[in-house]
Amino acid sequence: MIQSRSVTALPHLFGMLPDDLKAHLAAHGVQVRDDEARRLLAHVLGPEGAEQARRRPVGRRLLAVLAATTDQRRLEVVERATDPADGFVKYLLRSPDGALSEAVRIPLHRPGCYSVCLSSQVGCAMRCAFCATGRLGLSRNLAAWEMVAAFVTVRDETPGRVTGAVFQGQGEPLQNYDEVIRAARVLSHPCGCKISASAITISTVGLAPQIRRFAQEGHRYRLIISLTSAVPERRAALLPVAGRVPLSELADAIRAYARSTSGRVTVAWVLMGGVNHGADEVEALRALLPDVRLRINLIDVNDARPDGFRRATALERQLFMERLQVLSAPIVRRYSGGAARHAACGMLAAVRCGEASEG
Ligand code: SF4
Repeated sequence: MIQSRSVTALPHLFGMLPDDLKAHLAAHGVQVRDDEARRLLAHVLGPEGAEQARRRPVGRRLLAVLAATTDQRRLEVVERATDPADGFVKYLLRSPDGALSEAVRIPLHRPGCYSVCLSSQVGCAMRCAFCATGRLGLSRNLAAWEMVAAFVTVRDETPGRVTGAVFQGQGEPLQNYDEVIRAARVLSHPCGCKISASAITISTVGLAPQIRRFAQEGHRYRLIISLTSAVPERRAALLPVAGRVPLSELADAIRAYARSTSGRVTVAWVLMGGVNHGADEVEALRALLPDVRLRINLIDVNDARPDGFRRATALERQLFMERLQVLSAPIVRRYSGGAARHAACGMLAAVRCGEASEG
């Protein structure tokens, strides 16, 4: 496993929860109450932090200790590009060590509301056949603070409310499990970024042990499993991870997750013309998870691709959706936005506006 590289010996403020802040300050000889630690976090991370600080100033001594003992650097915005067709804004961000990652601001159906698609790694090791990021390979994991900083960067220049976050950008979030969960905790903390836990979505290509762990830990964040094919040989060709995690093992993990959540389990299906929309796929999916209540998110790949895949025709898609009816599962066509600005790889920024990410 490639770990996120520490760019300084100091812990970063954006990766801390109130208990961490309290313990950190105590280690430097400063005792604070629980409410002071929470107020400090709100000051650091809340969109209205500056306003709060004016009303109830955070002690200057506390801030001085934090300035001397924590890393507070932000990410540099290298580029921001708006897709005129759909309003998606893709950000290219640089970490202090020079690593580049992406985030995307996604307009939701509710006027003035947005979600942020976050990367979890620099590059990705999963090598999905239809994904440009997969061809880069993995450079390193992102630290929790970098994911939070990406969110804060996008949020602070958003002309509206950011009500959700999706870990669906570059990288396989569950391969960087601890840092992604920490970032989600900071994002959803009532004194942190204040995003509802149920409006935080984590996507995975199907790392079975981590799905089971996620289920055991009982998180309220939503998990989406990218299945894309239920025919073993085809899935292994499209998602090489399937060569290491047999479908039967993945199905067991999905069942464990289904038991841990009251709602349906969402599986994502990246639809490719002429590839994964036949009757064999529907039969295989029915045989794989007959006992799990599913929701199926269909995501079109974009056309004009260098890898030879193409978008399914309207007829291919329609036939597949009709065949899927036998599963009695809601089918949601999700929008893979930002195509004109290359914000849409296999999964990056694939959302149904107004659905999964709205809080
Ligand atoms: S689709 Fe996601 S998991 Fe697959 S290679 Fe691309 S970034 Fe990685």
